[in-house]
Amino acid sequence: MSLDEKIRRAARILKEARHAVVLTGAGISTESGIPDFRSPGTGLWEKEDPEDFTIDSFNRDPGAFYRRIRPLLTIINEAEPNDGHKVLAELEQRGRIKIIITQNIDGLHQQAGSRRVLDVHGTFKTGTCQSCRQKNDLADLLLVLDRGDEPDCPQCGGVIKPDVVLFGEEMPDDFQRAHRETLKCDCMLVVGSSLQVAPVGFLPRYSKNLMIINRGTTPYDEEARVVIRSSAGQALQRILEELDILRQGF
Ligand code: NAD
Repeated sequence: MSLDEKIRRAARILKEARHAVVLTGAGISTESGIPDFRSPGTGLWEKEDPEDFTIDSFNRDPGAFYRRIRPLLTIINEAEPNDGHKVLAELEQRGRIKIIITQNIDGLHQQAGSRRVLDVHGTFKTGTCQSCRQKNDLADLLLVLDRGDEPDCPQCGGVIKPDVVLFGEEMPDDFQRAHRETLKCDCMLVVGSSLQVAPVGFLPRYSKNLMIINRGTTPYDEEARVVIRSSAGQALQRILEELDILRQGF
């Protein structure tokens, strides 16, 4: 099937769906300048050690943890939503998609205007004091790090942990909601995920009318009704244009 045919098919499936959900991963944000984990040459795992992203590593030495992830925090703080995030926000506004389940921890869906977003791996945009539970913005934490200080809670001096789910931590309530949304959906559109990270990577197994936009392969490619191997931003933009054409009845 040609790319044009795949785009048309994806638009038609979305148009007919009553409860479409979108599952996004790091690949939708690479066009905003945030590296993903697994792309050859640029993926974070080529430079970073996953062991450094565990809750044990954080608890052992929060200061060292912050120093290691500091470059990533700066990139996330400065990143802007791209066409992919914007199209998904537009599709929600038009009622074409019900909710976004995201593995991303960059807050870009919310920045683009999406309202119903499940952050199943939490977010780096805020951090919570482990003692008094006060929330702090990433931008404020970066100011403290810029001064060469440890990001302690300004209220009580406690340790602030980024609101991300580190390896070894329990999944948040949003994951249970994501599971329920998946069981309810009649279409799941995966964008920019290798679908290799458990347990989120299992969700497509419970979905219907699976569609995938991803440069690399995924374990679900054989089962999907449409697999588009191109830029997430471009593919989503073209699907939106195709939906416009369908709406006008051409
Ligand atoms: P992953 O790195 O395992 O896979 C990303 C996939 O996106 C790859 O298969 C790659 O081929 C594809 N891709 C990259 N750029 C693309 C583009 N422009 N268009 C289309 N496809 C593109 O990422 P994942 O599946 O999300 O892995 C999960 C973990 O990565 C999550 O735990 C998430 O928290 C974490 N992560 C998030 C961010 C972020 O928030 N932006 C960044 C790095 C890692």
